Amino acid sequence: MGVACVNIGFYGVRGSTPCASDANRRYGGNTACVVLEQPGCEPIILDLGTGLRLYGEDLIAAGRPAFRGHALVTHMHWDHVQGLPFFKPLLTDGSRLDVWGPAADGLSLRAAFDRFMVPPFFPVTIADLPADIGFHDLQEGSSRIGDADVVTMAVPHIGATFGYRVQFGDGPSVAYLPDHQQPTDDSSAVAPG
Ligand SMILES: [Zn+2]
Repeated sequence: MGVACVNIGFYGVRGSTPCASDANRRYGGNTACVVLEQPGCEPIILDLGTGLRLYGEDLIAAGRPAFRGHALVTHMHWDHVQGLPFFKPLLTDGSRLDVWGPAADGLSLRAAFDRFMVPPFFPVTIADLPADIGFHDLQEGSSRIGDADVVTMAVPHIGATFGYRVQFGDGPSVAYLPDHQQPTDDSSAVAPG
């Protein structure tokens, strides 16, 4: 029996905005998107930045155009959500993506996505995509998401922001906290979202 392993794909590691340039060639210029895949389990996508487009291309190249899996969104800043409409498997009937993350500023996660994927900002709405996309407001604590056990915790940033720890079965756990900052008042407390 082999040791359980999880494959971690770093499709986007940049903050704030995509930044393609020779200087960024080593790690790429796409924004936050890390994918956890374990054979036999539904994948977990960590953030939906512009790197998500490359993951979609990888899936299609691998003959997997119909996607079934989950995305954990840390927060709604552009660099963490902007890749969603460019994830080509969402153009395939039969794809299913469940998106989990914090409600923020009085908006459900779904309402927040509907606010930026709408004309005049973007011509395609969530409802226009052929795939079945579910949105789920997540709370702090332990959750079962797909085939993974997930621990969710608020972290200091600007607006409601979560960090995640993900574990498939008794395999290794992976912690993902991309935007974590010292509060401006130097306290250790997490600002309410
Ligand atoms: Zn941020």
